[in-house]
Amino acid sequence: MRPKAGDKVTIRYRPEGGPLTFARAIYCTVNFNRIQNHPDRQVNVDMRGGINGGTLETTINVPLDAHVVNFSFKDNGIFIDDNEGAEYHCDVIGASGVAPKLKIAHLAVEMAPIAKVGGLGDVVTALSRSVQEQGHTVDVYVPKYDCMNYKEIEGLRKVDQFHFGNDVVNIYKGFVEGIKVTFVDPENGHFRVGCIYGRGDDHLRFQFFSNACVSYMKRANCFPDVLHVHDWQTAPAIWNVERPKTTATALTIHNLQFGQDLIRRAMIECTFATTVSPTYAEEIKNHPSINVIPKHESGKFKGIRNGIDNDIWDPSNDEFLPKPYDWKNCKEGKREAKLELLKRMRLDVTDFDSKPVIACVTRLTEQKGVHLIKKACRYALEKGAYFVLLGSAPDNRIANDFANLANEMKQQHPGRGGFFFSYDEPLSHLIYAGADIFCVPSIFEPCGLTQMIAMRYGAVPLVRRTGGLRDTVFDVQLDPARAVSYNKSCNGYNFDGEHESDIEHALSRALADYFDHIKWSELDLPRACMRQDWSWAAPSERYIDQYWFAKRKCESFK
Ligand code: ADP
Repeated sequence: MRPKAGDKVTIRYRPEGGPLTFARAIYCTVNFNRIQNHPDRQVNVDMRGGINGGTLETTINVPLDAHVVNFSFKDNGIFIDDNEGAEYHCDVIGASGVAPKLKIAHLAVEMAPIAKVGGLGDVVTALSRSVQEQGHTVDVYVPKYDCMNYKEIEGLRKVDQFHFGNDVVNIYKGFVEGIKVTFVDPENGHFRVGCIYGRGDDHLRFQFFSNACVSYMKRANCFPDVLHVHDWQTAPAIWNVERPKTTATALTIHNLQFGQDLIRRAMIECTFATTVSPTYAEEIKNHPSINVIPKHESGKFKGIRNGIDNDIWDPSNDEFLPKPYDWKNCKEGKREAKLELLKRMRLDVTDFDSKPVIACVTRLTEQKGVHLIKKACRYALEKGAYFVLLGSAPDNRIANDFANLANEMKQQHPGRGGFFFSYDEPLSHLIYAGADIFCVPSIFEPCGLTQMIAMRYGAVPLVRRTGGLRDTVFDVQLDPARAVSYNKSCNGYNFDGEHESDIEHALSRALADYFDHIKWSELDLPRACMRQDWSWAAPSERYIDQYWFAKRKCESFK
């Protein structure tokens, strides 16, 4: 619903299943423009008078200057339903004046595509773009590494220099993917070492960066509404005493493996914290660095799943595919991609239509379930399918293991196993498009992007039910009810255990469905996957709600 400014609007509420299920009376508080003290706000409107077939209702006037109506509900005691602090809201059209907007600054030590090591870099760029597209101001602060991909920075120029402790810091500005970026360049050489991580003094370098950013914000008088830090590296900005209390802080945990002491302190002091999927949030909530949140703030840690960038991952506009396709013509588009992929991998294309491609694109590390990947490979080939793996293995032992497996499989099942041990982005696009079934058997996975990319290209995911994989893949047999609770339809296959027999069982179900032509076309999974939305649209809305919540909370310090 998109009401007009000046209209009357009816707010309806059904308490069943929510925090107010057993409330005797329910009161609605209505506010405007996301602020606490709009002159026309209405506090605790009794909704009993408006009972309408089990639904409570109240009608309000939307003021002419209201761009947003926000509202929450409570009973006459301690129970509230305020969307976990974020309030509910509805956008209004035709309001006078300027719509309320946020100013967000990210502090990050990775940013795609200029300085990317893992998912953190992708999230910073994609979330910034998505929030900026909604009209908010977003700045990203990153170290000015000597090893950045400078070709991707537009308009890089030096704008300031200042003394910070015993050091001199230069500040540069530029644009990356349309986002304003501030580069911090200390003359002590912290970021002129040819790498992002791994010199043994990362704590020192990133602590310096975090504090230099806050100092610069003070100097340039440009503190944001919300300072958003990522992982332990930029956490020290949260407790920097130069930050005014009116600037809220957000912490996002991408990986809890490192820097746990810093995360623990940030968890206590931040205005709100997130991790990258609801299930991962559940899995780590009792970890000693997470369960330190004071009781009265117990709702401040949330799981918000990552999205994928639908412009970068777009089968209808992808230079690496032989033929563009969308969900309507995915059968033909995927068939051409499959043929091209098999040829590229020098596999046997005789009768290729009747054999599914089982694929995997991954870093080959223990986290990704290497023994399960090997099992999937052997089993798929035994059952007459193709198996295609694009994997980069930083560990020599794992690399050797896979090289042996590849040789063995090439002998046992000639023409059906394709192995590429490198990092190859163009090839990854062709694999997502050419694959019928895409395996992600991770032992743990905070969010995972590959299963969502696979779905965007119509490859059916088969995953271990952990972390973000559990939040995005719903098994056709096991999860119909769970899919409904996520407002999705079933889209793939999954399994729980860590044994080889667990993945074998899931894969055998998937292959049985595939080889049963009638069932496979009835399930129509590739198309179902392609029609699901795994973009940043919904997650960035949730971040924006959290940002407003944090801003409101910190405005009381004015
Ligand atoms: P993680 O960040 O733990 O590696 P994610 O699933 O979050 O896992 O992100 C992986 C990203 O890296 C995806 O975009 C995937 O396509 C890409 N990727 C992983 N391995 C390779 C590879 N060998 N070649 C090309 N791209 C890869």
